[in-house]
Amino acid sequence: MKSDTFIYDCIVIGAGPGGLQAAIHLGRYNRRVLLVDRGAGRTTHAAHIVNYLGLVAISGRELIATGLEQVKEFGVEVLKDTVTRVEKDDGFTVHTTDRSFQGRYVIASAGAVDNLPRLRNLGRFFGKGFYTCVDCDGHLTTGTKLLVMGNSLNAARLALGMKQMYTDDLALLLTDFNLPPDYQEAIREDSIAVHSGEPVALLGEAGLEGVQLADGRTLPCESIMATFGWRLNDSFLAGLSLDRDHERFKILTGNSNESSLPGLYVVGAMKQGHSQAIIAAGQGAVAAIDINQKLLEL
Ligand SMILES: Cc1cc2nc3c(=O)[nH]c(=O)nc-3n(C[C@H](O)[C@H](O)[C@H](O)COP(=O)(O)OP(=O)(O)OC[C@H]3O[C@@H](n4cnc5c(N)ncnc54)[C@H](O)[C@@H]3O)c2cc1C
Repeated sequence: MKSDTFIYDCIVIGAGPGGLQAAIHLGRYNRRVLLVDRGAGRTTHAAHIVNYLGLVAISGRELIATGLEQVKEFGVEVLKDTVTRVEKDDGFTVHTTDRSFQGRYVIASAGAVDNLPRLRNLGRFFGKGFYTCVDCDGHLTTGTKLLVMGNSLNAARLALGMKQMYTDDLALLLTDFNLPPDYQEAIREDSIAVHSGEPVALLGEAGLEGVQLADGRTLPCESIMATFGWRLNDSFLAGLSLDRDHERFKILTGNSNESSLPGLYVVGAMKQGHSQAIIAAGQGAVAAIDINQKLLEL
């Protein structure tokens, strides 16, 4: 690390609930913190968050906007930019589109993106009838005519689970996937209708009314839970060797959320485990407290 450049105590990548909570804690220790965020993250697509302690209802957009105000109160520098690469030297060098910054510690909290089929009118219904996260929005499907769609065994598991929890009026749409015999049996026993086909459009104006398939069929529904997997926003970590889960997907960390690369912490949707706003925020707090304790020992 070059000693003549300004060195941040911590550079936080991503202003989702994880990164913002970490920045709030570090700012309140009067640490030198840079928060780099490109905006429009996953949380901003949440229309109604109603499972966050102390908040009866808040939109994801409002949660993030409030968090950005909070971090500034505690002296955190916020930069709207995209991180392109993180290099490990004595500390870390974080490269953005056209600048580089030095930090002793880095918290990667850049979240993930849902894989979604190309559907006409998806923007109209995303988060308002069309959902991708059962822990977030499953409850909203209670008592509705529900269609679970996906391209893997996860879709069948989701359909069986949602039938138990939310609604009896449920069908399953599989794209490019055939159910193994034991799941065919379980789905039949639960009286879940199974369809195969390629969805091309969501139907309805004020509310969701159905899905149109490429072959012209229409499947009526009032809500959809889709599971097509997701991708991590982790391309800036490509040069670093980090331990991942058995699918080589999510990043593994210890209890304090430090990755296998000392000094690099990972919180939120990028790390192994459940992904919820309040979980990401808790992980951000833990990472920040741990980093501060390490800084105190310098
Ligand atoms: C429709 C929808 C509804 C949801 N509803 C709920 C709910 O009701 N309750 C709940 O608990 N959770 C909900 N979630 C899930 C919640 O949003 C995630 O758990 C949460 O996003 C995880 O937070 P995070 O900090 O990991 O990432 P994110 O919120 O995704 O934030 C990551 C940030 O990093 C930024 N970023 C990414 N790459 C870069 C880069 N290279 N450089 C700079 N910045 C970068 C992004 O722009 C973004 O601002 C919902 C999600 C969706 C999509």
